[in-house]
Amino acid sequence: MGQIDDILKDQPLNCGACNKCCRKNPGIFLLPEYGDDPALYEGALDEMDGRPILKTKSNGDCIYLDLEKGCMNYENRPRVCRTYDCRSDYMQWVVKPRAERRAMMKSGQLNQGVQKEGRTRLKAILGSKQSQIAAD
Ligand code: SF4
Ligand code: SF4
Repeated sequence: MGQIDDILKDQPLNCGACNKCCRKNPGIFLLPEYGDDPALYEGALDEMDGRPILKTKSNGDCIYLDLEKGCMNYENRPRVCRTYDCRSDYMQWVVKPRAERRAMMKSGQLNQGVQKEGRTRLKAILGSKQSQIAAD
C-alpha cells in the first residue's frame, strides 16, 4: 500500500467527466474539523450518526451533481470530495477477502462503478507493473 501511495502522489487524478463517486454514495460527510464550513451548504445538509452530510436526490446522486455539468458547487466542494482518490480506495478494497468484498457491495458500502474506475486508472499508471495488482 505504501508503495502504491508513493506512486499515486506523483500522478494527479484526472477525473474528466467521470462522476461516479458523486452517485449512490451512502454519505458525503462534511468535516468541519478539517475546514468544511457547514454555512456554505445551507439547505443541502442532512445528518448521519450525528454528523453533517450532503443531501442526496431520490436517485442517490449528490444534491449538487448535474449529470451534464458536473459538480454545481465545485469551488466549495467538501474536503472528502477534494481528497478522494478511487485508485487508492480500490487498493484498500481489493486486498480484503472476497466474501467481505461481496458483503460490502451488497450492503451498498462499496460502489462497483467507482471501484472499476479506480482499478482502470491504477492499471493505466502502473503499466508493466499491473500484474502486481490483485485480480478482481
Ligand atoms: S470515481 Fe474516481 S475518477 Fe471518477 S470522479 Fe470519482 S475519483 Fe474521479
Ligand atoms: S459536492 Fe460535488 S464533488 Fe462532492 S459529491 Fe457532490 S457533486 Fe460530487
